Amino acid sequence: MADTYDLVVIGSGPGGYVCAIRAAQLGMKVACVEKRATLGGTCLNIGCIPSKALLQASEKFEEANHHLGTFGVKVGKVELDLKGMMGHKDKVVGDNVNGVAFLFKKNKIDWVKGAARVAGAGKVDVALNGGGSQTLTTKNIVIATGSDVMPLPGVVVDEQRIVSSTGALALPEVPKSMIVIGGGYIGLEVGSVWQRLGTKVTVVEFLDRILPGMDGEVSKQMQRILGKQGMAFKLGTKVTGAKPTNKGVDVTLEPAKGGAAETMTVDIVLLSIGRKPFVDGLGLKEAGVALDERGRVKTDAHFATNVQGIYAIGDVIAGPMLAHKAEDEGVAVAEILAGQAGHVNYDAIPGVVYTWPEAASVGKTEEQLKQEGVEYRAGKFPFTANGRARAMASTDGFVKVLADKKTDRVLGVHIIGPEAGTMIAELALAMEFGASAEDIARTCHAHPTLNEAVKEAALAVDGRPIHI
Ligand SMILES: Cc1cc2nc3c(=O)[nH]c(=O)nc-3n(C[C@H](O)[C@H](O)[C@H](O)COP(=O)(O)OP(=O)(O)OC[C@H]3O[C@@H](n4cnc5c(N)ncnc54)[C@H](O)[C@@H]3O)c2cc1C
Repeated sequence: MADTYDLVVIGSGPGGYVCAIRAAQLGMKVACVEKRATLGGTCLNIGCIPSKALLQASEKFEEANHHLGTFGVKVGKVELDLKGMMGHKDKVVGDNVNGVAFLFKKNKIDWVKGAARVAGAGKVDVALNGGGSQTLTTKNIVIATGSDVMPLPGVVVDEQRIVSSTGALALPEVPKSMIVIGGGYIGLEVGSVWQRLGTKVTVVEFLDRILPGMDGEVSKQMQRILGKQGMAFKLGTKVTGAKPTNKGVDVTLEPAKGGAAETMTVDIVLLSIGRKPFVDGLGLKEAGVALDERGRVKTDAHFATNVQGIYAIGDVIAGPMLAHKAEDEGVAVAEILAGQAGHVNYDAIPGVVYTWPEAASVGKTEEQLKQEGVEYRAGKFPFTANGRARAMASTDGFVKVLADKKTDRVLGVHIIGPEAGTMIAELALAMEFGASAEDIARTCHAHPTLNEAVKEAALAVDGRPIHI
C-alpha cells in the first residue's frame, strides 16, 4: 500500500465512500481511512440500512397479523421469529458493506484500517486497527467522520436497557414497554419496529409536536395515524432522568414548561434526541481546523475548512444529517478537487420518515413560507381519492404542493402516505428543474399509481383537481 495520495478521505460513511469513489473515477489516487471493522459508516452499519431492514420485516409481520385478511388472504397463526428477523437485517447490512469493499477494489481505492488523526495539511497519522501506525502524505484531506448519538444528562446509555438506536436495532427480545425519548424520525421509525412486534411504545417529546422541522400538517396527521396504530405520545414533556432497577428502568418526566414530575417504569428506554458531529481524536484543534458554535467543522461553500487542503462533508458539517446529503457533498467536493464545478442544491434535498405510512418532504414547509412572508398557493389531494391507494388498502395521508402565488414555481411538497419516500423523488427532480405546479399538472402520470395524487395536488394548486 502506498503512503502518498492525491486524496485521503477520513471516514467511509455515505459521504466518505462516495467521495472516494468519485475522486478515483476522476483519476485521483485515493485512500480512505476507516476505524470501524467494516465500510459504510453509520448509514450502512447501524443507521439507514439496518433500520429499513427491520422496518420492512416488521411491516410484513404486521401485515400478516392484521392486514392480509382485507385482501382475502387467510393465514394461520402468525409467529415472530425475532432471531430470523435480526438475521435478515444482518445479512442486508453484510451485503451492503461488502458491496462498498468491492467498489473500493474496483476503483483501486486503498482502505486503511484504523483511526486517523490530522497531523496538519497534507499529513494523516493512522493508528492501525491491527497495531502500529502509518503516516499518509496527501495533497488533500476530506474529513467525513459523521456523527454520534446526542447525549442527555441523567440518561446514561448502556446499550442494554437504556439504548441508542444502535442497541435498539439489536434487542435480543421484544420488550413489553419502551419509552422513546425524542419524536424525530429515528425515534418514530425504531419505535414503530418494536410497536409492530408487540411493545407498548410511548414517545416523549420536549416540543409540542413530533417531527419538528417537517410541515406542521404532516406532523399532526402522522401523530394521529401512529396513535391509531397504538403509539402513545407525551408532548411538551422532558425526561430528567432514567434509572435502571431490577424491575426495569424508572424514567422521570416533567412538563417542559415546569410542573410536577412523574415516574414511568418501562423495560427499555431509547434515547433518540438527535445526533452530534463526531470529531473525537481527529486532532482538529492542533491542526488549526475551526469548528462552529455547534461543534461542526466549519466549511465554506466549496466544503473547504480554514486550513488549506483540508475539506469536510456530511454529518460533521452544517446541514441536514442525511445520507444522501452526505453523498452529494462527497461527489461535489471530489469534483471541485478535480477542477470541476461540484455543487449541492440545498433547496431540493428530500427528507423521508420510513414509518407506515411514510412521510416525505422537499423544499419549504407552510410554516417557513409564512415566516418568510412568501405568498403561495397550496394544492392538496388525499389518498382516499386515489385508486391505487384504495387497491392497496392504504388510504391514510395526502400530497400537498406549495407553489409561489405569482410565478407558480414549486416551493415545497409534503406527502404522508404509502411509498411517500419513493414518490418524493419526482418532486425533488421537479424542483431541481425549477418546475411550476402547472408543469407537474400537465405531466402525464401512469394510471393507476400513487403518483397520480401528486398530479392531482398540483392541479389543486390552481383549483382544478379532477378526482375530488
Ligand atoms: C438509526 C438511524 C437511521 C438513519 N436512517 C437514515 C435514513 O433512512 N436516511 C438518511 O438519509 N439518513 C439516515 N440516517 C442518517 C445517516 O446515517 C447519516 O446522515 C449518514 O450516515 C452520514 O454520513 P457521513 O458519511 O457523514 O458519516 P457516517 O455515516 O457517520 O460515517 C462516518 C464514519 O467515519 C468513521 N470515523 C470517524 N472518525 C474516524 C477517524 N478518526 N478515523 C477513521 N474513521 C473515522 C466512523 O467509524 C464512521 O464509519 C440514519 C441514522 C441513524 C442513526
